[in-house]
Amino acid sequence: MTAEAYDTVIVGGGPAGLNAALYLGRSCRRVLLVDSGDARNMAAGVMHNVVTNDGADIADFRARARAELAAYDVTFRDDEVVSVEPDGDHVVTTTKESGTFRSRTLLYAAGVRSELPPVPGLADLWGTSVFECPYCHAWEVRGKSFGVYGGVVPSECLAATLTVWSDSLTYLSDRRELPADERERLTAAGIPTVTDEIARVSPHPEGVAVELADGRSLTFGALFLHMDTEARVEPLRPWLRSGDLESVQTDERGRTALPRLYVAGDLGKNMQQAAMAAASGGLAAMAINADLVREDRPGSLPAPPPPASS
Ligand SMILES: Cc1cc2nc3c(=O)[nH]c(=O)nc-3n(C[C@H](O)[C@H](O)[C@H](O)COP(=O)(O)OP(=O)(O)OC[C@H]3O[C@@H](n4cnc5c(N)ncnc54)[C@H](O)[C@@H]3O)c2cc1C
Repeated sequence: MTAEAYDTVIVGGGPAGLNAALYLGRSCRRVLLVDSGDARNMAAGVMHNVVTNDGADIADFRARARAELAAYDVTFRDDEVVSVEPDGDHVVTTTKESGTFRSRTLLYAAGVRSELPPVPGLADLWGTSVFECPYCHAWEVRGKSFGVYGGVVPSECLAATLTVWSDSLTYLSDRRELPADERERLTAAGIPTVTDEIARVSPHPEGVAVELADGRSLTFGALFLHMDTEARVEPLRPWLRSGDLESVQTDERGRTALPRLYVAGDLGKNMQQAAMAAASGGLAAMAINADLVREDRPGSLPAPPPPASS
């Protein structure tokens, strides 16, 4: 086992983990950040809605963040964490290639995976003409016609919101029977529904072609949809008794019910946006720093406030 003991190991080098590293580095903390490099938004190439970084290349954003962190005691490992477990007053983090590390606290900021519906062709267009977040992507395709796929996860509220960016919207239910309230909301928003089965989607000079099972084809400037997401918590499994993070996160600063384990970013309680993820990383870092002060100087700080009941 590598003998290095860090104040905090951060799992995940997205906006949440990077901002937490900045806060902790600037708090004179010794930090190790391990990142496997497959960010959720990489398919889009650029990110929006991050002030001073609107339209920034995602890889470049990450590289600049790392360069800034060189001023502090932050070490990076491009590696995958395979397990994280408590060991007395430390946490033991095991990586695929770099070995095992001990730390006083662990910030888990590994993000989530988006689960695309099983429509052939969708994955190839994800991030370029198939999108989820209107705030991230609709400006670039404003004024064009939009399809909104609601075949797996109901997306009528997304469709209604998109009326801000387009007045030509079609809801595609892909044979899913819509409950009355979903139909009523679409009617209220003035959005027609096509209920036919979708065979595949494919690139089109205008954006995206949606091929129906009966051979007809519909063309849109972009396709939007809501998706299920899966938390990337595999390395935490031995530590999480219940199997899900939601049940152990206790406060708005990313503290969990498990001592020394904190969460931030898309995995946490915040909206799944880069700026919010970064903000939650900062909050978690401040909680970690304060809790380490509490441990080193007992009685010097009051206990953290109890979590607000949701
Ligand atoms: C296609 C798309 C486009 C988007 N565009 C925008 C946008 O324009 N603006 C915006 O605000 N938001 C956008 N988002 C949302 C945004 O990407 C997320 O909210 C944000 O990236 C979350 O940051 P995070 O740090 O929590 O997680 P992530 O950015 O997903 O980073 C998590 C990191 O953890 C690493 N990791 C995971 N598991 C492990 C492991 N076991 N060991 C080591 N490392 C691990 C991953 O490699 C990854 O680098 C978009 C999302 C998608 C899907």
